[in-house]
Amino acid sequence: MRKLFIRISVFILLTILTQIGGVVYLLALALGKMFSWNSRLVIFALFIVAYISASFATTYLAPLFGRHPLPCLVSQTAPLKIANPIFCALNRQYVKKDLLVLLEKASGAVDARFKGTQTLVLDANFPFFDGFPLLPHLSHHDGRKVDLAFYYMDGKAGYLSGYMKSPVGYWGYSQPKKGTKLSCTNVGFLSLRWDFVFLQPYLPEYLIEPQRTSYLLKWLVGEGRKYGMEKVLLESHLKSQLGVSSDLIRFQGCRAARHDDHIHLQIGK
Ligand SMILES: [Zn+2]
Repeated sequence: MRKLFIRISVFILLTILTQIGGVVYLLALALGKMFSWNSRLVIFALFIVAYISASFATTYLAPLFGRHPLPCLVSQTAPLKIANPIFCALNRQYVKKDLLVLLEKASGAVDARFKGTQTLVLDANFPFFDGFPLLPHLSHHDGRKVDLAFYYMDGKAGYLSGYMKSPVGYWGYSQPKKGTKLSCTNVGFLSLRWDFVFLQPYLPEYLIEPQRTSYLLKWLVGEGRKYGMEKVLLESHLKSQLGVSSDLIRFQGCRAARHDDHIHLQIGK
């Protein structure tokens, strides 16, 4: 009974984290049973080999179902890059073709204006099935949504290509400047509007690079409309700080995650 409970828990966890991982785990268990390989180590090794193979195969399979992988294996200086290999390892880098084109155009435009700029992509969507959310992003379930990291700088070196405030791009919040204040304080942990106060002192003191970030946002709500841009979610204090305003740049509300650690954008249907 205990063994079954653990196996069901592992299946659920892998499915939530990677979508295909749960099924691959069942496959590894089935193969182990078929060949009477009972060692946990062998099952683990089997799972790893099968998961890597399945993830690789998915990059070819998913486009047949309308989801395209964002570039995982590109040069260190490519204009568009997945921010951290963990997103690719967990199969969280899939988008609809139109969104892939929009991201290529947007990153190309920023790179053309500010040579050597790298646009970093965070969580996108899973490879299969509309309606399957990429937790904790409830809305990333149809290939139309993606999160981008801000461009960062530090006081001495200026723009820092390829750097983020936190290793995974999330939870390194940009606090409001003097004179502006954060929307919706004290809304509770269950609201998904997390602050991770305990984490902030351990993160580097990078600041959002305003020129590139503002240029990207203006491009998205201007030129981006041609490529299906529907909306951008951004914290209100950053809108004024970056001097951007558009009917496509919205505040996400108090029940959703803060959007001053990343940019959320989505295309229309
Ligand atoms: Zn998002």
